[in-house]
Amino acid sequence: MTFVPFTVFLFGAVVGSFLNVCIYRIPRKESLVFPGSHCPACNAPIRFYDNIPIASWIFLFGKCRTCRHPISFQYPLVEAINAGGYLYLYFRFNLSGPMVLYALFFSALLVITFIDLHHKIIPDVISLPGIGIGLLACLFVLPPDFLDALTGAALGWGLFYLIALVSRGGMGGGDIKLIAMIGAFLGWKKMLLTIMLGALGGSVVGIALMILFKKSRKYAVPFGPFLAVGALASLFWGTSLIEWYLRLV
Ligand SMILES: [Zn+2]
Repeated sequence: MTFVPFTVFLFGAVVGSFLNVCIYRIPRKESLVFPGSHCPACNAPIRFYDNIPIASWIFLFGKCRTCRHPISFQYPLVEAINAGGYLYLYFRFNLSGPMVLYALFFSALLVITFIDLHHKIIPDVISLPGIGIGLLACLFVLPPDFLDALTGAALGWGLFYLIALVSRGGMGGGDIKLIAMIGAFLGWKKMLLTIMLGALGGSVVGIALMILFKKSRKYAVPFGPFLAVGALASLFWGTSLIEWYLRLV
C-alpha cells in the first residue's frame, strides 16, 4: 500500500475506535469524552498503547491486560469495517468533498447498525442531524440536487410513517428518521432502492431465523441494519442496479 491509502485506512481505524465508544455510550446516555476508555469489567483505565485500533485487541488476545476479562470481538470488527469502508471510499472518490461526506454517512450507519442490534433503537442524536447534514451536502457538494435530496427525505419519512400507522408498531420511529436521513444523502431513487434491498435482506434473514431457531413471527428483527446495508449498496452500486432494474420492466 502506498502512503495515502494506508493513512486513510489508519484514520478509518482510529475513527472506528471512537465509534466503539459511541456505540457503547450513546444508548446509555453517557458522555463521549469523559471518562476515558476503561475496562467495563474491572474499570482499569486502558492505556494508550493498549488502545491501538485492531492491533491491541490481537496483541492482548482479546482480553483486558489487568483482569483478563474478554474484550468483545466487536471492537476490532467495528474498527476494521470503518477502516475498510474509508479505504473503499478513497478508491471510489479520491480525497474529495464527497469522500469526506460519504465517510461521515458510512460511520453514522455503522454506529446505528450496532446500536440497533444491541438495543433495538436508532438514536435521534445521529439520524436527525444526519438529515440536516445530508440536505446541506446535496445543496453544496453531493451529486443529488437539493430538490432530489429533499424529496428523498420527505418521501422516505412519509412512506415509513404510513407503514408505522398501518402496521401499528411494526415500524419504529427510529426507522422513519433513518430512512429520511438516507433519502437526504442519496436522493429519492436510491432511497427507494434502499427500502427494496433492506426489505429483501430483512425477509431472507427473518425467514432463515424462523426456520433455524424456530423464532416466532413476533420475534422482531431490527430493520435498521438492513436499511444501513441497503443504503451502502445503493450508494456504491445503485446506479447500475437501477439501470438493470429499469431494463427488466
Ligand atoms: Zn479489566
